[in-house]
Amino acid sequence: MQPRESAAQPVQRDHSWPLAIEAASGERVGLCFGCGICTGSCPLASAMDLLPSRLMKAVQLGLRERVLGATAPYLCVACETCAVRCPNGIDVARVMDAVRQASLTTGRPVPRVDIQRFHRWFLRTVWMFGRAHEGLLSAGYSLQQGRLLQDLSTGLALMRHGRLALWPHTVRRQREVRRLFRAIAQRGGR
Ligand code: SF4
Ligand code: SF4
Repeated sequence: MQPRESAAQPVQRDHSWPLAIEAASGERVGLCFGCGICTGSCPLASAMDLLPSRLMKAVQLGLRERVLGATAPYLCVACETCAVRCPNGIDVARVMDAVRQASLTTGRPVPRVDIQRFHRWFLRTVWMFGRAHEGLLSAGYSLQQGRLLQDLSTGLALMRHGRLALWPHTVRRQREVRRLFRAIAQRGGR
């Protein structure tokens, strides 16, 4: 008789990882007691595959692979609502940043191509003008996603209401911004 295979995979834990994330984020992840206020406050929670409070718990437990494979850190828009409301003063956005950076440093692909495209268009416009240009960002992203025509009417409506500028505003020290981009690229940033 063949031995029966266990259906459950052993959970891999990396016990040193929580300290690495604390060092990278500057936040005391260990202080989180899982109250869930960050999740209840997060405007993106409904789209996240790992809710902010659960992500904090997973980091505490050293569930490195689970966290690094999550989409949630790429959806976080760093609005800081969670940081303002956390009873322990933890800035979850900084933890999200550290996780995202750790994920990219290990050479993992961004889990969703649409998110990667949005980030790239955002950074492209910052490179070009020294600050984000929503018009070009939206047009480039929609075109690459193959939905330019669907998004066109929304874009035009936003322009009519003055919410989307056609012409970009540049910053005075644009060269400084480009110098930062080059420095990050030299350090292997993606
Ligand atoms: S609000 Fe703060 S303490 Fe509560 S779950 Fe979120 S990070 Fe943890
Ligand atoms: S900073 Fe990120 S995790 Fe926190 S509330 Fe905003 S989107 Fe959610």
